[in-house]
Amino acid sequence: MYYPMKRNITGIHHITALASDPAKNLDFYTGVLGLRFIKKTVNFDAPDVYHLYYGDEAGSPGSILTFFPYEGIRRGSHGKGLVNTTTFSVPLDSIGFWEERLKRFGVPHKDAQERLGNEVFIYFEDPDGLGLELVFNEHDPRPGFTYGHIPAEHAIRGFFSAEIWAGGYERTAALLTNQMDHVLIAEQGNRFRFAATDAPGNYIDILVPNASGNGMSGAGTIHHLAFSTPDEETQLIARRRIAERMLNPTPVIDRQYFKSIYFREPSGVLFEVATEAPGFAVDEPAESLGEGLMLPPRYEPFRPQLEKSLPALKLNLEAYQ
Ligand code: ZN
Repeated sequence: MYYPMKRNITGIHHITALASDPAKNLDFYTGVLGLRFIKKTVNFDAPDVYHLYYGDEAGSPGSILTFFPYEGIRRGSHGKGLVNTTTFSVPLDSIGFWEERLKRFGVPHKDAQERLGNEVFIYFEDPDGLGLELVFNEHDPRPGFTYGHIPAEHAIRGFFSAEIWAGGYERTAALLTNQMDHVLIAEQGNRFRFAATDAPGNYIDILVPNASGNGMSGAGTIHHLAFSTPDEETQLIARRRIAERMLNPTPVIDRQYFKSIYFREPSGVLFEVATEAPGFAVDEPAESLGEGLMLPPRYEPFRPQLEKSLPALKLNLEAYQ
């Protein structure tokens, strides 16, 4: 497999979605799925709304799923121009455990299916209709995090892949391969798999749907897909290459836990390129991630009002043993 010598993009950093009820969201991702709640903060562009982060123990790139829960917003719909399915990596022999667990907590799922040779997966949705999959595989060396209510050997390891439904496949593929250090590593039918790093947590599947309208943003849809860049220097190189493709990347924006640029790819998905550092232990101890409401300095003066207006949230793991 050929990879460019110096990669400015190494894989998936995080995936951010829209939700409705923040408490249901917290229950589902920590309780049912067992992800670690790694950060409770606010939407830096709309601080009256939470920004909730889930991931592995440290919140490593390739494991971070985040939500803007807008209470009462209408549901979106899957379709072209969106990331429609976010897939998690779990061990191959965990399939019975997860089928039973989803059933026990009333989460409907499709029967196990196979694709791209022998990749076994099951599809289900979160309470807002966000498309999710568990991919059962034996290629993932990452340790699983557990609060204790899910046996560590069955725990989610992080992402496996993200699935984009593309109207303009060729242009999205060209962006990934020419500017974003990805390589086409597999294809089957209308599915094309790309990777900057050939390992679970980094696969980007482009699906060219036979018949599908455009997706519509709302609860249960992905807001953006963030790719990981090693540092601020590689981020600027990535930004320049994306600008050369006339995609108008934003200037670098400080997101407290990483630095980011944003641009819309040709099929309509909002892409971000985020730095690995400084990470989630920058404003609270690694052992107690997610426990306090963390605010960037500019919103600290508004803490009393925000703590009053944002709905109370607490981990409710006892109900999900
Ligand atoms: Zn982001």
